[in-house]
Amino acid sequence: MQEHRRTKIIASIGPASAHGDTLGAMVRAGMDVARINCSHGSTADHARAIALVREAARRVGKTVGVLLDLAGPKLRIESLDPSLSTVAPGEVITIAEHGIARPAALLTSRLGVLPTITPGSTIAFADGAVRVVVDRNEDGWIEATVVQGGALAARKGVNFPDSTLDLPALTEADYANIAFGLESGVDFIALSFVGAARDIALARRQLERLGGSDRVMLVAKIERKEAIERAEEIVDAADAVMVARGDLGVEVPVERIPLLQKQLIHLANDRGKPVITATQMLESMIEAGSPTRAEASDVANAILDGSDALMLSAETAVGAFPVEAVATMDRIARATEQEADNQALTLLSRPAPVARSVADAIGEAATRITRSVAARAVVALTESGHSARVLARFRPAAPILGATPDPRAARSLTLSWGVIPQVIARTPSTEVMVHEALAAAVERGLAEPGELVVLVAGIPFGVRGTTNLIKLQAVGEGFFAPSEGV
Ligand code: PGA
Ligand code: MN
Repeated sequence: MQEHRRTKIIASIGPASAHGDTLGAMVRAGMDVARINCSHGSTADHARAIALVREAARRVGKTVGVLLDLAGPKLRIESLDPSLSTVAPGEVITIAEHGIARPAALLTSRLGVLPTITPGSTIAFADGAVRVVVDRNEDGWIEATVVQGGALAARKGVNFPDSTLDLPALTEADYANIAFGLESGVDFIALSFVGAARDIALARRQLERLGGSDRVMLVAKIERKEAIERAEEIVDAADAVMVARGDLGVEVPVERIPLLQKQLIHLANDRGKPVITATQMLESMIEAGSPTRAEASDVANAILDGSDALMLSAETAVGAFPVEAVATMDRIARATEQEADNQALTLLSRPAPVARSVADAIGEAATRITRSVAARAVVALTESGHSARVLARFRPAAPILGATPDPRAARSLTLSWGVIPQVIARTPSTEVMVHEALAAAVERGLAEPGELVVLVAGIPFGVRGTTNLIKLQAVGEGFFAPSEGV
């Protein structure tokens, strides 16, 4: 088994995992990023979970990122008549947004979308388990007939698979959570139900207003039809992308998910944006200690598609086996990565990314040199994390050490394929920092004294986003003078 797993693991934190011991075990089992889901729990719960994650990471001595997942403009069932706890085909139900004057059996959260839903269109509840077709709509008071029966409950989601919705990009709760995320120093903020690039721009402006635009990366969750249609502009506007298969599988027919997943991953790979594949990856492990064969294959295939990171949802948030779920994902990833370069076996057709900038050209060349000289490691000396992310895009054969004096930049690398985050001491001398980075590479078993590593950096160091240097560096030698060793 290879020592360093390339694919990153995100685990959602919830009642099953928000305990010091469990989190410690999850970090040891391979969790790289903890996901705090704003759709569940209070801000106090979230603050507590973040503190526990940080504490567990510190105890284990590993860089762990925190991703705050905003609830976004998702309609949910606010309240419902007890008679609707199960509904059968043919049953007629009345639906309205919370706060409407006219009584209805089922009330949803209030986003002003129900008045725009036309007769004949489908409304799906509870991840598509229940479907109704709208018979009439009087200013947002809807009468609909159940076509697929099942169980309904408060808090379950509401989707509109064949309507184009004019949703607000961010709700009041999202704005509050962005401020909370900045205050608590989270590394990534995920935007749910993004419809266009301008939704991401809005969140970015809000970060700017709060003075934190360079402190968090924005993850666009692709989970609406509109987002599929505008995938390119969304991927370009975001810092990272999530293939959010849960809602996506309700908003578009589920049979489209496998190929949409590949297309979205390839698009993100092409633009050099970290991409997460999410939802139901090890679903049966909510209740069982081992996964189904289909789930093991799904995890492996998401890696072969080109995912940077894979996400566990209910498995670790409310499941009975949170630690085992992380350990299982770790094992499948390691086994798959052994063969990920074997095209004959995997029929992998990930497009080769095109270099578009100076930084890309450095990343591409460094990846090629890594192969030519069979370097065991690529060391990125990076202020913002940029130099390491550029390398990840080209998928070098050797592990990437992302060495940075900024702990926040180190955490920003927890989503990126193949990058091992490493915090080094900040000194005014680039030479000394190179020395520190190489010492860390040796300590982690990535290289031995005398071996060549490929060094990538931005000179002058400390200026963010200037990746402009490749050097074949012998471990143990100084940056300028061979024997110096600083
Ligand atoms: P959610 O997002 O779990 O917040 O709904 C992921 C998805 O929809 O797949
Ligand atoms: Mn979702």
